[in-house]
Amino acid sequence: MSIALLIPDRKLDQLQQKLQQQLPGVTIEIWPEISKPEAVDFAVVWRQPANSLTAFPKLKALQSFGAGVDSILSDPGLPDVPLARIVDPDLTRSMLNYLHGVLLHYQLRFDQFAMQQQKQQWKARSPRKIQQLCVLGLGELGKAAALYFQALGYQLSGWSASPKQIVGVACYAGLNEFAKAVAEADVVICLLPLTAQTENLLNDQRLSQFKPGAILVNVARGAIVDDLALLQNLDSGQLGAACLDVFRTEPLPAEHPFWQHSAVLLTPHISAVTNADTAVLQIAENYRRVQAALPMFNLVDKQRGY
Ligand code: NAP
Repeated sequence: MSIALLIPDRKLDQLQQKLQQQLPGVTIEIWPEISKPEAVDFAVVWRQPANSLTAFPKLKALQSFGAGVDSILSDPGLPDVPLARIVDPDLTRSMLNYLHGVLLHYQLRFDQFAMQQQKQQWKARSPRKIQQLCVLGLGELGKAAALYFQALGYQLSGWSASPKQIVGVACYAGLNEFAKAVAEADVVICLLPLTAQTENLLNDQRLSQFKPGAILVNVARGAIVDDLALLQNLDSGQLGAACLDVFRTEPLPAEHPFWQHSAVLLTPHISAVTNADTAVLQIAENYRRVQAALPMFNLVDKQRGY
């Protein structure tokens, strides 16, 4: 029995060491240097190369190294075994911190003052009126964001697949209620998973249902937004600005118009990065549960896609 780490875009020596401290005596190897593929029964994955998991015939379970699982589920060679993901208060704290920073950036008009500085323009302005927020996705991160900003005095609406009741948050569910959820929001925060249902969800039709001048913050996945529709809605003034942490192709290609657009603030997918110190505790716990034939914590519904 051994563990394979398949996370191609990350240096894994430290993760391997930390996990080894939690699981002494267990063989933990970094793909593609796996000495006995037939002994691997547990794999930690994130953007694994397509079909790479077919090399492990005895695999019993998969553990995502992140909160999102779209890149894992899109693998045509995904084995039919349970998949768990990271749900970590530390990750949630990072996301709330990022979102709070972004809100203050726009509220205090730092975007406009940065442009004025370029032109050596001295022009005082009072803070932007940002009172109403909408959170798309009311799961682990979305619900936490809604409650956090509601406690800070903002008015909140939220949107999810199934109906929810969250004290102090006007909750809407399903495509029929999308327009109502976003109608009054000064800022719309996207915290949806990327699935067949949410790909290109934020297209021209839906962006036109936003309040004129609203700001979109996408910290979920790039493919939820139709890039061209977003650019058109920014150019027409239907949207006031967009803060994007995630993109259809990452890193964002050099020729992409988002780089140069004056109404786009972009960050390189850093809003909530998995913390290896806390993640290894969950990974080790799930590994032990698999060995004891118990269900893993934070299981993903593979049919639903999140
Ligand atoms: P989660 O707990 O799985 O919650 C997902 C939420 O989205 C749920 O409320 C779900 O509704 C809703 N939803 C799913 N499909 C929907 C649809 N078709 N229409 C309306 N609502 C829908 O996910 P999470 O942990 O909060 O994370 C959300 C996403 O954030 C992840 O999937 C990941 O892609 C992204 N993320 C990004 C970063 C980053 O660094 N940028 C870090 C972590 C996570 P129900 O509750 O009704 O099922």
